[in-house]
Amino acid sequence: MSVFNNVHLHGHEAVVYGFDPDAGLRAIIALHNTSCGPALGGCRMWAYENEEQALADVLRLSRSMTYKSALAGLRFGGGKAVVIGDPRRDKTEALLRAMGRFIDSLGGRYITAEDAGTSVEDLKIMAKETDHVAGIADRRDIDGNWRSGDPSPATAYGVLMGIQASVQERLDRSDLEDIRVALQGLGHVGWCLAQYLLRAGARLWVTDIRPEVRERAAAELDVTVVEPNAIYAQPVDVFAPCALGAVLNDQSIPQLQARVVAGSANNQLAEERHGEMLRRRGILYAPDYVINAGGVIDVAHGFDGYDPRQARLHIERIAETLAEIYCRARRSASPTSREADRIAEERFQLRRTVAAA
Ligand code: NAD
Repeated sequence: MSVFNNVHLHGHEAVVYGFDPDAGLRAIIALHNTSCGPALGGCRMWAYENEEQALADVLRLSRSMTYKSALAGLRFGGGKAVVIGDPRRDKTEALLRAMGRFIDSLGGRYITAEDAGTSVEDLKIMAKETDHVAGIADRRDIDGNWRSGDPSPATAYGVLMGIQASVQERLDRSDLEDIRVALQGLGHVGWCLAQYLLRAGARLWVTDIRPEVRERAAAELDVTVVEPNAIYAQPVDVFAPCALGAVLNDQSIPQLQARVVAGSANNQLAEERHGEMLRRRGILYAPDYVINAGGVIDVAHGFDGYDPRQARLHIERIAETLAEIYCRARRSASPTSREADRIAEERFQLRRTVAAA
């Protein structure tokens, strides 16, 4: 893979490689677009098979952070970091501190946060070397509980807002009482979302690839538990993917009974054309980076003296953003995913023009 071709293709501003052989650090930071502010995005640690895979991941993830921040109305741009290595085997204090120094060398153009393979504790170690770390302060979250950084409840709350907006649009219903939801993945976000949905009166069909999680759900939640492969074809109103990316594809879309797809997973469409495939099947798709922005909104509020009420109100605006996307997509008869991209591009291009004037 040619680095320059890819960077040019997706409009990135910079891609920086970090290497510290003593600490075992091999990392890449991609800055996609900083016209709305410094690039904010998580640091992922993953056992990539090769450098090409790591580069492809960081380019894709950093780009979607620009779109996510622009549509969430944040004063941040999009960036992401990846560390090549197995988080269970290769993570050491020396490596995390070396990563902190690497982030610091960018002088605040990139601000890191938690992501797959890194924890709040890891970020606190990086913060010994750099100030450019977000989401590590202990504080009350939007539910009023004390938490150390974890943005998942905020993400789940944003998804709940997004499901309500989508149900209103497609099913003309203003509440979730007896709305049937198939929820894929009961991890940090999915479990919390299940609790929010049950409280709102929805009926749930859930699954997880881990049998022990399915058993816990059957024991502790008022839900129907199904096998992982059976989740797509459940006779429900809403499909909420909260596990992996690329779950909306040629195999899964024909199985869907739901009229709404709205969940937290990143990069849900296997390919862009699957947005159109959903539209043609009459399925309303809540674009992933819009509906799952609750966590980044919450983290961004941490920069301005965190006020849980303000963060909550900001997360609730996800519903308005989705309503605008749905309205424009209806008028232009185009996929909601494309309409979301257009609105985001309008916003960050406007900022660029204003900044240049
Ligand atoms: P997590 O790792 O805590 O949970 C994912 C769950 O999905 C796990 O329980 C896992 O066993 C399950 N799973 C994996 N493959 C599955 C499959 N094929 N079928 C069913 N279950 C499967 O992750 P999370 O933090 O809850 O995030 C969930 C998704 O939301 C991810 O795509 C993540 O990128 C995205 N997301 C999370 C946040 C956040 O605040 N945590 C923010 C934005 C987006």
